[in-house]
Amino acid sequence: MLEPTIGLEIHIQLQTRSKMFCSCKNSYGDPPNTNICPVCLGHPGTLPVLNWEAVKLATKLALALNCKVNMESYFARKNYFYPDLPKGYQITQYKNPLAEDGFIELRNGKKIRIERLHIEEDSGKSIHTEDGTLIDFNRCGVPLAEIVTKPDISSPEEALFFLQFLRKIAVYTGVSDADMEKGNMRCDANLSLKQEGSKKMGTKTEVKNLNSFKFLSKALKYEIQRQKKILEQGGKIHLETRGFDSKKGVTFLMRSKEEAHDYRYFPEPDLPPLKLADSFIQEIKNSMPELHWQKEERFMREFGLDRKTAEVLCAEKEIGNFFEETVKFYGKPKELANWTKTEVLELWNQGLKIRPESLGTLLKIVDDGKLSRLKAKEVLEEMASSGKSPEIIMEERELSQISDEKKLRVTVEEIIKENPDKVEKYRKGKKGLMGFFIGEAMKRTEGRANPKLLNKILGEALKNGE
Ligand SMILES: [Zn+2]
Repeated sequence: MLEPTIGLEIHIQLQTRSKMFCSCKNSYGDPPNTNICPVCLGHPGTLPVLNWEAVKLATKLALALNCKVNMESYFARKNYFYPDLPKGYQITQYKNPLAEDGFIELRNGKKIRIERLHIEEDSGKSIHTEDGTLIDFNRCGVPLAEIVTKPDISSPEEALFFLQFLRKIAVYTGVSDADMEKGNMRCDANLSLKQEGSKKMGTKTEVKNLNSFKFLSKALKYEIQRQKKILEQGGKIHLETRGFDSKKGVTFLMRSKEEAHDYRYFPEPDLPPLKLADSFIQEIKNSMPELHWQKEERFMREFGLDRKTAEVLCAEKEIGNFFEETVKFYGKPKELANWTKTEVLELWNQGLKIRPESLGTLLKIVDDGKLSRLKAKEVLEEMASSGKSPEIIMEERELSQISDEKKLRVTVEEIIKENPDKVEKYRKGKKGLMGFFIGEAMKRTEGRANPKLLNKILGEALKNGE
C-alpha cells in the first residue's frame, strides 16, 4: 500500500497599517498603483526601514503555534527576476528565521510540526487580460509570514485541518483576515508517496497557489491518484512544480526542477540583525487572546455543548462572540446554540447581522408561546435585513400566535362542520387523521395557532359525540 506524505507552505499577509519597509498603506482593494513609493518600487538609493508592528504580529502568530522564537534573526535577499518584483529581489529570512520548531495538535493527539516561521515582503500582482498583462504594485512590500510544516501530514483531510486551524489562529490573534479569496492567505503543498510503514521517502512534487480550502483538498486528492497510477505502472515521479487547474480539477506541470531557480540568497546589507528583547516577547505573551480551540473547550465546559457544536460556533470568531453575548440576554445555551449554528450562521454568511439582545428577545417570545418557531425564523430574517426589533415586526405582520381560546374554538368548529366524513372516521378509530385537522387549523390561522392550545381544543371537540 502506498501512503502520502504531505508538507505545506503557507503565506499569510500581516494586518499592519503600513507596509513592511516603507510607510505606504497596506490596504486591499485600493485603485491599482496608488499605495506606492520609491522604497517599495525599488528605486536606486532608497533604504528599507523595518515596520515593528509586522514583527510583533509575526511573533504573536509564532507563539500561538508553539514555535521557539529566535531572539536574533536575519534578513536575506532572494534574487530573481519577475515583472511584479521591481527591486529584482525579495527581502526575506533564510538561514535564521524569526521562529522555528512549532506544532499544532490534531483531535486524535497527533502533532503536525512546524519547521519554521519567517517574515518577508510580498511581491506586486500581475493581472492577465486579453490585451496583455497589467501590474499592480500596491501589494509590493506588504508584510507576510511564511509558515513551513514538516512533512508530517498524511492525508488531504489532515492538510485541510491544518490550514483551517492556521486560519482560525490568524483571525483570533488579529494577525490577519487570512481570507483565501482575497489572497491574504495562500498555500503551496508538496506531496510524495511511499510504501506504508517504510522510512524511505518518495520523490515529491510541489503544487503551487492553492487559493481555497476546497482546492487544497481537491489538488491533493488528484495528485495522490496521479502519482499512484504512475508508480503502480512502474514509472518514476519527477521532482517538479505543478499548478492546479480548478476548472478541470487536475494538476499540471509548471516547471521541472532542472529549471529551478538559483536564488543566490545573501544577507540583506541594508538591514541590521533583528534582535528581540525578553520584554517584547513577554508583552506579546501577555496580550495573547483566547484562541479558537481554547474557546471551544470553554464552551463545552461552561455551556455543556457537544464538541461538534462548539466547533461550529467557534469557527468564526465573530459568531462565537455573538453566541456568548446572546447567552447573557437569553440563557439556555443549548437552545441558543441550535439557533446560532443554523439560522444565525446562514444569515451571517449572507452578510446579515443580528444584535444579541434582539435574538434574545425573539427567543423569549417563542418560549412564551406567543410566536411559533416557524414564524420566528421569518421574523429573524427581517430583523437581520431591516434591523427592526422582533416586537415591531410581529405587530406589522400580525404574526402573534393566537392563544385566544374562543377564536381557536370557532376555527375548530368550522373544520368539524365542513368535514363530517373525516370526523366520523376519526371517531371510529382512525386517530392518524389528527394531523389533517391540525394542518387544516394551521392553514386557516396562517400558522399562528398556539399548537398546545389547538391540540387541546381539537382533542375535546373530536371527542364530543364519540
Ligand atoms: Zn512604499
